[in-house]
Amino acid sequence: MSNVDLDWANIGFGYIQTDKRYVSNFKDGAWDEGCLTEDPNVVLNECAGVLQYAQTVFEGLKAYRTEDGRILTFRPDLNAKRMIDSAKRLEMPPFSEERFIDAVDKVVAANARYVPPFGSGASLYLRPYMFGTNPVIGVKPATEYQFRILVTPVGPYFKGGAKPITIRVSDFDRAAPRGTGHIKAGLNYAMSLHAIVDAHNQGYDENMYLDSHTRTYVEETGGANFIFITKDGKLVTPKSDTILPSITRRSLCYVAEHYLDMEVEEREIPLTEVKEFAECGLCGTAAVISPVGKVVDHGTDICFPSGMTEMGPVTKKLYDTLTGIQMGRIEAPEGWIHEIKL
Ligand SMILES: *Cc1c(COP(=O)(O)O)cnc(C)c1O
Repeated sequence: MSNVDLDWANIGFGYIQTDKRYVSNFKDGAWDEGCLTEDPNVVLNECAGVLQYAQTVFEGLKAYRTEDGRILTFRPDLNAKRMIDSAKRLEMPPFSEERFIDAVDKVVAANARYVPPFGSGASLYLRPYMFGTNPVIGVKPATEYQFRILVTPVGPYFKGGAKPITIRVSDFDRAAPRGTGHIKAGLNYAMSLHAIVDAHNQGYDENMYLDSHTRTYVEETGGANFIFITKDGKLVTPKSDTILPSITRRSLCYVAEHYLDMEVEEREIPLTEVKEFAECGLCGTAAVISPVGKVVDHGTDICFPSGMTEMGPVTKKLYDTLTGIQMGRIEAPEGWIHEIKL
């Protein structure tokens, strides 16, 4: 089937409605068999649990077109597992890993003509999500839920190459209420919106959140984990049980160790140490790695010697290797690549 006619290089990162979405409903203690539907609208009771108490979790992953026309997704099993963890933390019923991967397969295959061509820099973004649907007024979990996956093509995250960004050390507390920082839930994002708008108003691209308990250690930004490169070429990344366990970060750590022969340290990183690093990047599914050129800590600039004008050399190697694996150009570790059967 030939692709839809879109200007792939210029579609940006926004919602474009596609042909089909996957839906499954949970009722009377069980998920139904699920199906694909053409209807992009969700009609809910006015008192639905998600509308009252924000009982909703989500995931994000991408499907890529290879040079020989196949369609690949990257480690969807990890998204499935993380969504189960997120759901449990918000007292929602888990959607099994097998069902999740089956739903990914079906929804991508049904929208294959929206998977951007190889080399365009664009990809198909998948957004699995789940929310409480039945009326809830007393504070308690819903008893009925809907699981959905929508897909939308997204353009290259960086138009004209990755330009390093400037971030500030945030005075706002951790985006996520304590104890929910390690789950992917809309409530954490809602709590971060004010800090993001404020950062943008002050001319910064992002917030660096510190641990909310001591305000001493680096945590993450609103939607991406940090990686740092030391002057002697080690990869260092924050150890914390209140940051979201990024799949991109886990993959980059593996690539650093096993493909690039680098040392990797996951440990607490005091803010005072940040000025010692050679490179800094933000990692997540959307951009893979966004290089950070400068961190501003209350009027003091911390500039990274590599990466003020372009991605630093080690960050670039990590980026090229991981994206090569994701696009099927570089051989992947066992189980990382999941091919969609068409
Ligand atoms: C999604 C997300 C990330 C990035 O995780 P990936 O699995 O790499 O996409 C990082 N931090 C937060 C808070 C997130 O929600």
